[in-house]
Amino acid sequence: MLLRHTTDKITERSALTINPAKTCQPVGAMYAALGVHGCLPHSHGSQGCCSYHRTALTRHFKEPVMAATSSFTEGSSVFGGQANLLQAVSTIFSIYKPDIIAVHTTCLSETIGDDVNQILQKTRDDKLVPPGKHVVHCNTPSYVGSHITGYSNMVAGFINYFPQKTGKKINQINIISGWVEPSDMREIKNIASAMEVKIVLLPDTSDVLDTPMTGKHEVFPKGGTTIPEMVSMGNSRSTIALGPFCAEDAAIKLENKCKVKFTTLELPIGLKATDRFITALSRAANVSVPESITDDRGRLIDMITDMHKYLYGKRVALFGDPDTLTPLVEFLVTLDMKPVYVVSGTPGKRFEEAMNTILKPVVPEAKYMNGQRADMFLLHQWIKQEPVDLLIGNSYGKYIARDENIPFVRLGFPIMDRVGHSYFPTLGYKGGMHLLTNILGAIMDKMDREALEEKFELVM
Ligand code: SF4
Repeated sequence: MLLRHTTDKITERSALTINPAKTCQPVGAMYAALGVHGCLPHSHGSQGCCSYHRTALTRHFKEPVMAATSSFTEGSSVFGGQANLLQAVSTIFSIYKPDIIAVHTTCLSETIGDDVNQILQKTRDDKLVPPGKHVVHCNTPSYVGSHITGYSNMVAGFINYFPQKTGKKINQINIISGWVEPSDMREIKNIASAMEVKIVLLPDTSDVLDTPMTGKHEVFPKGGTTIPEMVSMGNSRSTIALGPFCAEDAAIKLENKCKVKFTTLELPIGLKATDRFITALSRAANVSVPESITDDRGRLIDMITDMHKYLYGKRVALFGDPDTLTPLVEFLVTLDMKPVYVVSGTPGKRFEEAMNTILKPVVPEAKYMNGQRADMFLLHQWIKQEPVDLLIGNSYGKYIARDENIPFVRLGFPIMDRVGHSYFPTLGYKGGMHLLTNILGAIMDKMDREALEEKFELVM
């Protein structure tokens, strides 16, 4: 029992987080920057921060994640990191030759108070940035928010720098994606392609963090949103922001900057959220929904109908990121499952509002919480008080799942002990089928393990 000290007795805590259900801001900024073609993320802080962020992403995607660091020493920690960043920009452009350096800050540089905007302006004034190349930035102080805040800040950073309004509209739709897997970003493009809608997807980590083995290492793989695509976003017909926590801030900035109207939707996870996305995309682009997508929807409904008897009334505990949890909880309710415990380490009122709307009418006994005190320890205590039939979350959930003998579906970030998440989508109708397969598989594996011999069935 690895978590044997967790008890079911909950003590009110005001200044202690135990096993947080989140990670730090720069991890998100780094992931978002990798979704832009030819972009090298740069961590303005100490080497340790950068190593940790790269490691977290490398372990999740099983791909080498490239990022540079300002490598603060004791001197820069006292006097500021300007000299380090100026040197870094010069060195990176001469050795690695990226198109963009995307700088994010860390706790240390934020505490010192480095003005990264001013330092990057100096790199331009001092001609350290070659013609046609760019340095962009965002602030990611990790003592507030989470990796989700960092992701949102970096995407908004790209919007601050690139989109331009020329007055000549382009028949395309911007899709600003929340934090999802490369497979999910590919699925968004597949759906748009099936609907014959031209989109610009920002960021886009497909073909960056799920690249085929060719035997040749590319520092900058072929995927990622290109600079011309980002510039053109200022002339698009409209924007769909997928995920209020990750994508809405960038969409607001784009509207303010280039007057491109936006709609915010939940990530298209599950039946209803995917319905809303397909409807919004077809309206925005003024196209009808093709038969292939209607058929995918029908297949998901068929699968739900067939599997419903195994899912009905099952109690589920979930933890992770708010943009993922909200549509996921809605999907579980659609399946007649009972999401009874939900926690997210990312702060923000919209999470509670969304849970109130989805859960209060159908699962009034549900407990949910987000922010600093909403940690894995609390989730485990709730589970100890009244057990669940399924746990959904990232790899850190395996300790609770093992101690309490709960079927466990890995979803979210980070997943360090399994593969597949970056290759098979969770988004869209096809992603819904994949998710449902995993949920059902986990539940039925336990049923098979524990069934009495006379009840051990070959057929479902
Ligand atoms: S929390 Fe702050 S100090 Fe720690 S790794 Fe993240 S940025 Fe660095």
